[in-house]
Amino acid sequence: MLRGSVKNRSPMPRIARVIVEVTRDREFDYLVPERIDHEIEIGSMVVVPFGRSEARGYVVGFKESSEYKGLKEIRERVGKKAMVEEKTLDLARWIADYYVAPVELAVRTVLPSAVRKKGAGFKERLLVFPTAEALNIAAVELLRKHAPKQAAVLDVLLTGKQMFLNHLARAASTTTAAVRSLEKKGFVQIGRGAMRRDPLANQQILRTEPLKLMPQQTDALALVIKAIDTMNPSVVLIYGVTGSGKTEIYLQAIQHATDQGKGAIVLVPEIALTPQTMERFRARFGDCVAILHSALSDGERHDEWHRVHEGKASIAIGARSALFAPVKNLGLIVVDEEHEPTYKQEDAPRYNARDVAVMRGRMEKCAVVLGTATPALETYANAKSGKYGLAVMPHRVDHQKMPVVNIVDMRVEAEREGHVNVFSRDLIQAVQARLDKGEQTMLFLNRRGYATSIVCPRCGYVAECEHCSVAMTYHRATEELICHICGVTRKVPQVCPNEKCRDKSFKFAGFGTQRVEGVVAKCFPHARVCRMDSDTTKNKGSHGTILGDFRTGKIDILIGTQMIAKGLHFPNVTLVGVLFADMSLHMPDFRAAERTFQLITQVAGRAGRGEIPGEVIVQTFTPFHPAIQAARRLDFGQFYDQEIEYRRELSYPPFSRVVCMTLRGPVEELVQLTGQHFVKALQPLLTKHVIVAGPAPAPLARAKGEYRYQIILRAPLTKLMAEPLRKVLKDFKWPDKVAFSVDVDALSLM
Ligand code: ADP
Ligand code: ZN
Repeated sequence: MLRGSVKNRSPMPRIARVIVEVTRDREFDYLVPERIDHEIEIGSMVVVPFGRSEARGYVVGFKESSEYKGLKEIRERVGKKAMVEEKTLDLARWIADYYVAPVELAVRTVLPSAVRKKGAGFKERLLVFPTAEALNIAAVELLRKHAPKQAAVLDVLLTGKQMFLNHLARAASTTTAAVRSLEKKGFVQIGRGAMRRDPLANQQILRTEPLKLMPQQTDALALVIKAIDTMNPSVVLIYGVTGSGKTEIYLQAIQHATDQGKGAIVLVPEIALTPQTMERFRARFGDCVAILHSALSDGERHDEWHRVHEGKASIAIGARSALFAPVKNLGLIVVDEEHEPTYKQEDAPRYNARDVAVMRGRMEKCAVVLGTATPALETYANAKSGKYGLAVMPHRVDHQKMPVVNIVDMRVEAEREGHVNVFSRDLIQAVQARLDKGEQTMLFLNRRGYATSIVCPRCGYVAECEHCSVAMTYHRATEELICHICGVTRKVPQVCPNEKCRDKSFKFAGFGTQRVEGVVAKCFPHARVCRMDSDTTKNKGSHGTILGDFRTGKIDILIGTQMIAKGLHFPNVTLVGVLFADMSLHMPDFRAAERTFQLITQVAGRAGRGEIPGEVIVQTFTPFHPAIQAARRLDFGQFYDQEIEYRRELSYPPFSRVVCMTLRGPVEELVQLTGQHFVKALQPLLTKHVIVAGPAPAPLARAKGEYRYQIILRAPLTKLMAEPLRKVLKDFKWPDKVAFSVDVDALSLM
């Protein structure tokens, strides 16, 4: 070693690979200038010259030489600390590869926008605090005489403890100069500092202690702890009925991880991310818990993210994107309700947070727990084959019996009545019985599919949107049909539009939540009824208000969509009615049966969580369908055994992986032709293990005035499809009027 050589590196400037935020799927080479060389590392946010202006980007790696000549230099670095750790970038690269998505979209995904945005930082903010002098009445009175504006500022400040300088000035309708004068006079202090924006700041949360576990919980926890403590941790599936005590296991497993100085991430579906859920974690672990989800303000999200980044919070809880929280020394990832389709992102990269969680677990050697009452078929297959550990918890903690599920055959009902009613006699009687006893009822209607459509009760005609080829939904308040895809509205026809039919009862034939509400009001004029769906919960907070009223017994009957299906706990609900169970069963999708089973099981979980056992009434036109029959016994095992055979026969997941490519555009022939060209380009790169279907019109053949075609690929391994797809996509010439998307492990084939 030569003494005197200060730095042990080549005299040539380094070359950095940079992902620029404004472009798609490319890394660019830039020179790292000597003056900032020591500041640039992987994950650094930088400003680079780009085209005629400049752009921001992230350094994702370095290279020795570049095939390009005349490289430009990085201008400067933004921020002090690397925002993305190398392992997070590795995960982003994996996502891009696996889900056939542009790298820079994947990088964006792992880094929340609240952190990326300029000015979202807390560093440059100035805080104002009152001093003791501000409480000196005589001094303040004097100030009021000589400088009333400044006194007004003081009044505003004293309503709280501290305020941001700019907020304070704005709130007191003055300038920051007035606040500065107050500082000179000694009434306030101005300091650099971050005021934490805490999503749960206004709540008093009582600490809880770990509960003494039931035997089934003890076994499950032991399995998880074993996974945390091994060198090569595995995935554990906790398959436990609703109320079996899964959350308590998560809490104690996290405790075990944090006791060893490890961190944890808990993912819950957006819809289950209620204050109740978050409180349970805060109540056990206090400020170590950071909460990350989309309903937070940018500021809150920024602060919570940085608390994790700086190691102040070791536990992150949130929806999908919380998976990328920069938790230090990660020991455990929990994915609650792992079967939930909402874990799948609908825009590129179309990743499934559950599957990426398993991947992150593998990359960071941390245990992964998947919890659910109705495992996804893929997950359960992995557990059965021994790839995942399995803990089964068949009993509720409170030893409550599972509810009784009764199936009502609506065909018989229709025959008897001469037409289709919203409510069967059985259901009417059951609801009446609850009203008489002062117990509560939930009525559940699946919104998706043909849920709220108008079907002619005589000829079966369905009112469809002419642009989107989906059934339109009926809104009674305005007497309109609305397309939920494109938003087009039209008046409800007075008679059935089918010329051969012209039935007059057509306009009353809608099956939507509104219609149900109307019928309920007629059948039970004295009941207090409330409807909860995306229409009645548009305003912030209305969701919570309705649930609060229901909890406190101000509502007898709650009518709702999926929104009321999960996670809620109301002890006085003893009856759940599923009004049209067939709706999800007839979706053109190989997972329709699975979704139906899950939905019925989930809503059944809402019944009888208190002292009184619950009853579930499922109305259906296909009572003998295997999914309905299995749901009747709440028997996941039975459902799995049947369904898995069907999947095996047709080579659907878990026996294959599915990639759904959708092409869309205003000119049908062009969309179809482009699809054909694409398949032609792809075919030579595929092995015989890949099955290609299409291009064919998608089940949702038109949407928003565009034609949609699908190409569906199936293969035993994703790689066999993803690699060829990436190769073809690299050079494929797309006509201007055709857009495309690639959905790897697609959950819905609409
Ligand atoms: P899950 O997540 O499976 O639905 P929870 O963990 O929410 O179940 O448990 C259901 C209820 O039972 C909660 O109110 C919880 O506090 C309580 N509970 C869980 N485990 C125990 C236990 N070992 N002893 C007493 N109560 C428990
Ligand atoms: Zn439409």
